[in-house]
Amino acid sequence: MTTLDPAHLTLAPKVLLHDHLDGGLRPATVLELAHEVGYDGLPVDDAAGLGRWFREAADSGSLERYLETFTHTVAVMQTVDALERVARECVEDLADDNVVYAEVRYAPEQHLEAGLTLDEVVEAVLRGFADGERIAADRGKTIIVRCLVTAMRHAARSREIAELAVRYRDRGVVGFDIAGAEAGHPPTRHLDAFEYMRANCAPFTIHAGEAFGLPSIHEAIGFCGTDRLGHGVRVFDDIELPDGVDLAAHSFTGAKLGLIANIVRDKRIPLELCPSSNVQTGAVTSLAEHPFNVLARLRFRVTVNTDNRLMGDTTMSKEFGLLADQFGYGWADFERFTVNAMKSAFIHFDERLAVIDDVIKPGYAVLLGSG
Ligand SMILES: [Zn+2]
Repeated sequence: MTTLDPAHLTLAPKVLLHDHLDGGLRPATVLELAHEVGYDGLPVDDAAGLGRWFREAADSGSLERYLETFTHTVAVMQTVDALERVARECVEDLADDNVVYAEVRYAPEQHLEAGLTLDEVVEAVLRGFADGERIAADRGKTIIVRCLVTAMRHAARSREIAELAVRYRDRGVVGFDIAGAEAGHPPTRHLDAFEYMRANCAPFTIHAGEAFGLPSIHEAIGFCGTDRLGHGVRVFDDIELPDGVDLAAHSFTGAKLGLIANIVRDKRIPLELCPSSNVQTGAVTSLAEHPFNVLARLRFRVTVNTDNRLMGDTTMSKEFGLLADQFGYGWADFERFTVNAMKSAFIHFDERLAVIDDVIKPGYAVLLGSG
């Protein structure tokens, strides 16, 4: 058996379902693009310092403050060249971390300031992803990256973005999402977008149950019919644990689930959990208080995600490492979370199965010492 140290964590095959393109730029790229496009709003002018600034600004414990950091990344992603570059580097960075399948999301409506159309934005990002896949393959890394297009929940373009998702469904866009501050912007405001997706048999996920609790999750499932929950971490509010129970325990007998928690588990609705981001935005108070382990042990469909690699100064390997330290997980646990994620991907069943059988299982067999 291979030990679970950081170097070996990098070797493990990983699947990432919740990662924002505008939250994953390299600090040096933010600086270079800002210089190229004449954006002078950056608070710091060296790459290491800028990386730290993003991390600290995002660490404030408020989702609203966290979302502010995106003003800068979005400002430098307004041209075809910039979008292609950011998308390409995203794939390269994920491949370096042995992510073998990823769905990366962004909101096309936020990239129109320099005159691009929604279609031009989507096409630039898809070209960047394809270039990144080719570069990774040349380095001996196989990675598949697909795209989710996001609508901003405070804006009124969600139906248009859903149509965009369906228009590009066979060209690399595999689903739709809504994101942004939850408070005051319930998912039901975007019902026609979700109805359009359902009418076209096209999958979607909804950021819900992050800053806001159970009502948001209830709406996402009951009214909107979401296929996955972006975070969904607050489903924990609907689980009653016996007094004094250790959140790192191996079993939670005696846990009582309410209606919403039961439905999420019954229907195997995948939870796109993002451990360190959930702490950064204040959705949970600390990693020790994170319900990841409770949800995993109670057999919810949990997946591990990065959310925003720049703001969180994180990678999939780092998220695995944090969870291993906190909850004592081993390779078999990470294999299960990875298979969970692949089962929950928005590509076709045979494509999911191929990644599970040909990449994930053999990869973990080696780590478990049976390969
Ligand atoms: Zn997110």
